[in-house]
Amino acid sequence: MILVLNSGSSTLKYSVWDGAKDVAKGTIDRIGTMKSALDEAFGALGNAVVEAVGHRVVHGGGRFAEAVLIDDAVEQAIDELGAIAPLHNPYALEGIRAARERFPGIPQVAVFDTAFHHTLPARAYTYAVPGNIGIRRYGFHGISHQYVSERFAELVGKPASELRLITVHLGNGCSMCAVEHGKSIDTSMGFTPMEGLVMGTRCGDLDAGAVLHLLETRQTQPADLRETLNSGSGLLGMSGISNDMREILGAAVAGNQQAAAAVDVFYYRARKYVGSYLAAMNGADAVVFAGGIGENSPEVREGICKDLDALGVSVDPNANGSNSTGDRQIGFGRVAVWVVHTREDLLIANLCSQLTKTTCSAA
Ligand code: AMP
Repeated sequence: MILVLNSGSSTLKYSVWDGAKDVAKGTIDRIGTMKSALDEAFGALGNAVVEAVGHRVVHGGGRFAEAVLIDDAVEQAIDELGAIAPLHNPYALEGIRAARERFPGIPQVAVFDTAFHHTLPARAYTYAVPGNIGIRRYGFHGISHQYVSERFAELVGKPASELRLITVHLGNGCSMCAVEHGKSIDTSMGFTPMEGLVMGTRCGDLDAGAVLHLLETRQTQPADLRETLNSGSGLLGMSGISNDMREILGAAVAGNQQAAAAVDVFYYRARKYVGSYLAAMNGADAVVFAGGIGENSPEVREGICKDLDALGVSVDPNANGSNSTGDRQIGFGRVAVWVVHTREDLLIANLCSQLTKTTCSAA
């Protein structure tokens, strides 16, 4: 069986895979140390025979273009990448170290959220700054964008190489990806997961000049500003009530103006990105929604797609608002609109299986 670990700043998620089926899973709030959370997860495995462990690692930098077997050098590289992903990689590293100690000799695989975006052309990953500054766009959520684009191809029975897709991952973190012929050619997150769409607590696109202004005139410390832009902005910052889209939609319906304004900004930003990816690929076969918001909120899908009919994107109110769940088509214009349930853990388990040749078969 394959154990998949997703070690984040506030939670540790684990799942155990037997073939394409998860036989156990759980989320442990990290109130204590990562070690105690991992001990709890390892304890919950019972008698399961772990043959391989797959780890979600947020940042693979320019180095990792695909999932890799973890050895000391890979572990060290993930550690070094913590310098540009201080909010993410250190947690994954703790999980890797604990699992290597707990399961000595069992192969461990790192699956990177950046890897799918290694195909970005230079024109999409380059910021217009001097080259020696050392920043570029990496893109994140790649595991979800890859899973969703491959699953879509499977659902419509076409090779990915014949499709142009706009995958829209809307969860607490939000990002969009232009997937041309199976490859990511542009994505909304950049050097960090802060760029792009409005998110639960992150601001998304922001003028670099505004950041400098805040640092220079408010005597704000970089660490405080980082906290504000990462954890106090987005839907939470604008609405003043919550980062949870359900609560904000509810408040907006009840007449809360700030909540309504936050929803409007969220929709508008996403709509602009759909338009820009249609331009990037000179059209698209489908817009595919995924993630907690993308999969569950007909209002949000409608809000984003409204007024895009001239570009061939529209949702059918009956299909969009139906009670059916699961992967389905909800828009039937020139550009189809779909909802696909993202399963990042399954992709991690499958990549882990391929690299370690264990019995977990690809679904
Ligand atoms: P995720 O990070 O993918 O788990 O998604 C979390 C987000 O999904 C939160 O903002 C939730 O409010 C949102 N969400 C879950 N269910 C719904 C729903 N039925 N309507 C709107 N948002 C939802």
